[in-house]
Amino acid sequence: MKRRGFVNLSGVAIGLALIPVCNLAAADETLTSDDPQAKALGYVTKSEVAGSNCDNCALSKGDAKALACNIFPGKQVSASGWCKVWSKKSAA
Ligand code: SF4
Repeated sequence: MKRRGFVNLSGVAIGLALIPVCNLAAADETLTSDDPQAKALGYVTKSEVAGSNCDNCALSKGDAKALACNIFPGKQVSASGWCKVWSKKSAA
Protein backbone atom coordinates (compact mmCIF):
# COMPACT_ATOMS: atom_id res chain seq x y z
CA MET A 1 0.00 0.00 0.00
CA LYS A 2 1.29 3.39 -0.90
CA ARG A 3 1.95 5.87 1.89
CA ARG A 4 -0.82 8.23 0.72
CA GLY A 5 -3.40 5.41 0.80
CA PHE A 6 -2.31 4.41 4.29
CA VAL A 7 -2.64 8.00 5.56
CA ASN A 8 -6.14 8.32 4.06
CA LEU A 9 -7.29 5.02 5.62
CA SER A 10 -5.87 6.05 8.99
CA GLY A 11 -7.90 9.28 8.90
CA VAL A 12 -11.10 7.38 8.14
CA ALA A 13 -10.44 4.89 10.97
CA ILE A 14 -9.85 7.70 13.48
CA GLY A 15 -13.03 9.48 12.33
CA LEU A 16 -15.14 6.32 12.72
CA ALA A 17 -13.67 5.69 16.18
CA LEU A 18 -14.72 9.18 17.34
CA ILE A 19 -18.39 8.90 16.27
CA PRO A 20 -19.60 7.10 19.45
CA VAL A 21 -17.76 9.64 21.63
CA CYS A 22 -19.41 12.55 19.80
CA ASN A 23 -22.87 10.95 20.11
CA LEU A 24 -22.47 10.49 23.87
CA ALA A 25 -21.45 14.10 24.30
CA ALA A 26 -24.51 15.28 22.33
CA ALA A 27 -26.92 13.18 24.45
CA ASP A 28 -26.71 15.70 27.28
CA GLU A 29 -27.58 18.65 25.09
CA THR A 30 -30.78 20.48 26.02
CA LEU A 31 -33.13 21.26 23.15
CA THR A 32 -33.96 24.93 22.76
CA SER A 33 -36.77 26.48 20.76
CA ASP A 34 -34.09 28.13 18.57
CA ASP A 35 -32.98 24.76 17.18
CA PRO A 36 -34.02 24.55 13.47
CA GLN A 37 -35.81 21.19 13.89
CA ALA A 38 -37.47 22.42 17.09
CA LYS A 39 -38.71 25.50 15.24
CA ALA A 40 -40.09 23.36 12.41
CA LEU A 41 -42.08 21.29 14.91
CA GLY A 42 -43.18 24.24 17.06
CA TYR A 43 -41.28 23.06 20.14
CA VAL A 44 -41.63 25.28 23.20
CA THR A 45 -40.12 24.70 26.64
CA LYS A 46 -43.44 25.52 28.34
CA SER A 47 -46.59 24.05 26.81
CA GLU A 48 -49.54 26.34 26.16
CA VAL A 49 -51.81 23.41 25.33
CA ALA A 50 -53.85 22.37 28.38
CA GLY A 51 -53.12 18.80 29.45
CA SER A 52 -50.39 18.24 26.83
CA ASN A 53 -46.68 18.34 27.55
CA CYS A 54 -43.55 16.29 27.01
CA ASP A 55 -44.04 14.53 30.35
CA ASN A 56 -47.28 12.88 29.19
CA CYS A 57 -46.22 12.43 25.54
CA ALA A 58 -45.86 8.89 24.20
CA LEU A 59 -42.60 9.86 22.49
CA SER A 60 -40.76 10.84 25.66
CA LYS A 61 -38.63 8.58 27.84
CA GLY A 62 -37.83 9.09 31.49
CA ASP A 63 -39.48 10.84 34.40
CA ALA A 64 -37.21 13.76 35.17
CA LYS A 65 -37.49 17.48 34.43
CA ALA A 66 -35.44 16.83 31.29
CA LEU A 67 -36.53 13.89 29.14
CA ALA A 68 -35.23 12.02 26.13
CA CYS A 69 -37.47 12.29 23.08
CA ASN A 70 -37.65 10.00 20.03
CA ILE A 71 -38.18 12.98 17.74
CA PHE A 72 -35.06 14.82 18.89
CA PRO A 73 -32.38 12.13 19.32
CA GLY A 74 -29.36 13.15 21.39
CA LYS A 75 -31.18 16.08 22.98
CA GLN A 76 -33.19 16.46 26.15
CA VAL A 77 -36.58 18.16 26.17
CA SER A 78 -38.26 19.93 29.06
CA ALA A 79 -40.92 17.87 30.88
CA SER A 80 -43.18 20.93 30.63
CA GLY A 81 -42.41 21.40 26.90
CA TRP A 82 -44.55 20.61 23.87
CA CYS A 83 -44.34 20.24 20.08
CA LYS A 84 -46.72 19.54 17.18
CA VAL A 85 -45.90 15.81 17.27
CA TRP A 86 -47.31 15.40 20.79
CA SER A 87 -49.20 12.16 21.22
CA LYS A 88 -50.93 11.06 24.42
CA LYS A 89 -48.99 8.51 26.45
CA SER A 90 -51.11 5.44 27.06
CA ALA A 91 -51.85 4.47 30.66
CA ALA A 92 -49.50 1.73 31.84
S1 SF4 B 1 -42.57 14.60 20.59
FE1 SF4 B 1 -43.51 14.70 22.62
S2 SF4 B 1 -41.81 14.54 24.06
FE2 SF4 B 1 -40.95 15.08 22.07
S3 SF4 B 1 -40.82 17.32 22.08
FE3 SF4 B 1 -42.76 16.76 21.11
S4 SF4 B 1 -44.26 16.79 22.80
FE4 SF4 B 1 -42.22 16.72 23.72
